[in-house]
Amino acid sequence: MGAPMPDHLRARRTHPEWAIPCPVQHCRAKPGLPCLGRTTHRPVAGGSHPTRLDTWLVQQHTQPAA
Ligand SMILES: [Zn+2]
Repeated sequence: MGAPMPDHLRARRTHPEWAIPCPVQHCRAKPGLPCLGRTTHRPVAGGSHPTRLDTWLVQQHTQPAA
């Protein structure tokens, strides 16, 4: 009761696409983690690669919501 929300749950509210691993070859961010830049190794702008967002969006249309 009153416990802070775990990071991975908070992330799903702001970045639902983090539910899937990043399909970008050089990135491959794990579920629940932000995408990292290839050279900077820092989270990319927006938190995820556009390809990851696209892949997640497509899955929303091809799979029933869990
Ligand atoms: Zn990525």
